[in-house]
Amino acid sequence: MEFRDLKKQYTQLKTDLDASIQKALLEANYISGPQVTELERQLAAYVGVKHCITCANGTDALSLAVMAWGIGAGDAVFVPDFTFFSTGEIVSFTGATPIFVDVEEDSFNISPDSLTEAIEAVLAEGRLIPRAVITVDLFGQPADYNRIRPIAEKYHLKILEDAAQGFGGAICGKKACSFGEIATTSFFPAKPLGCYGDGGAVFTDDDALAELIRSLRIHGKGTDKYDNVRIGLNSRLDTIQAAVLLVKLKAFAEYELQAVNEAAGRYTKLLAHLVKAPAVPEGYVSSWAQYSILLKDQQQREHIQSALKAANIPSMIYYRKPMHSQKAFAKTDCVKCDLSVTTSLCQRVLSLPMHPYLEEEEQRAVAEIIQKQVL
Ligand SMILES: *Cc1c(COP(=O)(O)O)cnc(C)c1O
Repeated sequence: MEFRDLKKQYTQLKTDLDASIQKALLEANYISGPQVTELERQLAAYVGVKHCITCANGTDALSLAVMAWGIGAGDAVFVPDFTFFSTGEIVSFTGATPIFVDVEEDSFNISPDSLTEAIEAVLAEGRLIPRAVITVDLFGQPADYNRIRPIAEKYHLKILEDAAQGFGGAICGKKACSFGEIATTSFFPAKPLGCYGDGGAVFTDDDALAELIRSLRIHGKGTDKYDNVRIGLNSRLDTIQAAVLLVKLKAFAEYELQAVNEAAGRYTKLLAHLVKAPAVPEGYVSSWAQYSILLKDQQQREHIQSALKAANIPSMIYYRKPMHSQKAFAKTDCVKCDLSVTTSLCQRVLSLPMHPYLEEEEQRAVAEIIQKQVL
């Protein structure tokens, strides 16, 4: 069994993918070819925002957003403690300070109450200026924007939506990548919408920000890339990756998102009486970057993971370590806030094989092993 079956997906889409890649090779516009512009148009239309700016990866997409806002030394950026490293890394990279915030056990996403507590703590200390919050749509489920937006408005914080895992999700019909003033995603192969290498994108409705980000992604270009008006990055999406994504976006929109949601429904039916299964709130759609269950304790997780492994079933731990205990942040002087939910999740969470091509028989095999371990 595969954790995320990219081979099966390729086999399914092979005719169209091969033709699209072949066309890009023959046309030889390997950098910034017409496929890139077309993909940006389609992605913006899918998400329902004015501008999509593709770039080299999801980490750069986050960096471009923070650079466009001019966030740096002396600024505080609030980041969930339970996420992939990039979300905090790019804050430190710009010279700003990441302030880690606890998450909610039911959604794995940033806790609005902990966010308020962390902002108040930073203000009370008076050393840093609160500038932005990076909301992560973890495992495919959008964060709680209805509760986060009023907090951001009250404290004048920008919302940067990290939808690296969230592309395809929605709240009441409004799509992920449209909730932040700037939103970003990643096309790393295993993400909900992945290419065949690294890739990423930035989304915004703001014309001036979009223009600035287009400049920042190509060496801070002015009229062209040999006229340089600011310090930027070299962060473009390859034409070949755009050619891959044009085919994959079509499959994603036509049936993959629905198929992965059907797979999630089957898992929940098989597992909800045995372990804590992920619950999607009313009105929300998840794109199921991961299907993550919550176990009693670390010991139960170890037993289940080794039983699965013995049956050749892969499982993963996202994430084993809270951001605040990563060695790279050891010198980041954090404001002391309660991060106990994240600490507990890191000991109990387990992600199961999940993708649009997962079959019911495979899911039954996973559930049978889990059942034997918990009963
Ligand atoms: C994958 C991921 C990123 C980074 O994306 P890359 O394309 O690998 O640079 C950022 N944030 C989150 C939450 C991610 O899962």
